Amino acid sequence: MFIVHIASEFAGVAKVGGLADVVQGLTRELSIRGNHVEVILPRYEQMRMDRVWGYTKSYADLWVPFHNFWVHCDVYFGFVDGVKTYFIESHFFKNFFNRSVIYGDRDDPERFAFFSKAAMEFLLKSGKHPDVIHVHDWQTAMVPLLLAETYKHFGMTHPRVCFTIHNVHHQGITGDHVLRQNHLNPSWYLGDDRLGDDQYPGAVNLMKGGVVYSNFVTTVSPTYMHEIRHSTLGHGLQNTLNRHWAKLGGVLNGVDYGVWNPEVDALIPHHFSPENLDAKYGNKKALRDRFWLADTYKPIIAVISRLDHQKGVGLMRHALFYALANNCQFVLLGTSPDPKVTEDFWNLKRHLNDNPDCHLELAFDEGVSHLIYAGADMILIPSAFEPCGLTQLIAMKYGTVPVARATGGLADTVFDANYAHVPYHDRNGYTFNDFDQAAVDSALQRAIGMWYHYPQYWRELMLNGMRKDYSWNHSAQHYLNIYEYIREK
Ligand code: ADP
Repeated sequence: MFIVHIASEFAGVAKVGGLADVVQGLTRELSIRGNHVEVILPRYEQMRMDRVWGYTKSYADLWVPFHNFWVHCDVYFGFVDGVKTYFIESHFFKNFFNRSVIYGDRDDPERFAFFSKAAMEFLLKSGKHPDVIHVHDWQTAMVPLLLAETYKHFGMTHPRVCFTIHNVHHQGITGDHVLRQNHLNPSWYLGDDRLGDDQYPGAVNLMKGGVVYSNFVTTVSPTYMHEIRHSTLGHGLQNTLNRHWAKLGGVLNGVDYGVWNPEVDALIPHHFSPENLDAKYGNKKALRDRFWLADTYKPIIAVISRLDHQKGVGLMRHALFYALANNCQFVLLGTSPDPKVTEDFWNLKRHLNDNPDCHLELAFDEGVSHLIYAGADMILIPSAFEPCGLTQLIAMKYGTVPVARATGGLADTVFDANYAHVPYHDRNGYTFNDFDQAAVDSALQRAIGMWYHYPQYWRELMLNGMRKDYSWNHSAQHYLNIYEYIREK
């Protein structure tokens, strides 16, 4: 099958969050399975071009119609992690892609609407007719609209579109200029059943357009799809999603076991596996040495996270003191974009500086994260919402038991040791429902109690998590099934 991903991020060269990992992991797995896969990205200024192999200009002078003039672009080609990738460079005076950040400018909707248009223009002019075009989040959600209303009339009748929502919190709500710039009449497309935002009259909602015009819409976990359809987590998109219920689905993200595997991980001092579990404790010792923690008989509870409301930053702070009061050690690796939160955590760090059972590492450090996954006993994930979540999946592979709020992808992957409706051999952690301190306390209390009093059961929980396969293998097959399904429609 010929599959083209049009995306604003791709791990390795341009990453802001999980979207980048999905595009990389999925495209690589789809290629390995023999599909013809290509990725189209903007050519940002700050890309990691050292990770692109065989970078060459592949299409010179792509003129993209925009507003009432033509924008001059060039298209480059190279391999990223073995995947064929095209980079669209725009020579527009507004400098759409050469910014210091990937997202965060006021004209983001205009920038990414233009990118969507340029990607379609490239497919048309280069004579590519993919079976499936896969787009991601609001940034490229205009692609299915452009295909249906413009490019279909130029002969692109073949491709079907799959649209993945990674985070419904950001929907690309903007003015109608993005329609006019792309030669779409606002009075027609602003309708309630098209791109008109349900909450702000007169505003264009790009994500809504993606839902309406795609052949299939996925979220990155089944429970997250349910939540955004039936609760305020949908941020106003509920009606649209429910109207299009027949083409919705949830596919869990995978983990790249080439990077996250305790049997071969070069960033941890002691390799281990389900057959050789005791070697994990060499990493626990190394973690304690690294963070000057006391070497005593206590479990280590870890947090590895962005420090923001979504991730339950207040509950992490609460859990720290609960852990210290209940004979545990606590390790946190995290950063926050909010200076106030950063300052709070620095104050906390200074306050706890001499405590031999606690360490806060306020940095983004992938190497340290590997050591924590390998050395900790539990990982706490008290998210307010979680489209999929990677930390619980990685932690389980390293025999670190998740204690997580049962929301989104966490609810689909963490099964409570005591209460889950799954067989014992699938139970792998502790969950709680309410987003409050009492709920965290009760889950931690059960987990700590099990660790101290029933080590043999604890070991089973660890092994259940380690043996489960959360690689891209399964997720890619789900997506292939979806692609096949929409091709036949
Ligand atoms: P999100 O993408 O919403 O931040 P995920 O759970 O999907 O959350 O992915 C988080 C990823 O970022 C994980 O791989 C985690 O290990 C990593 N991570 C988060 N914070 C840090 C940090 N401070 N240092 C290193 N890695 C981090």
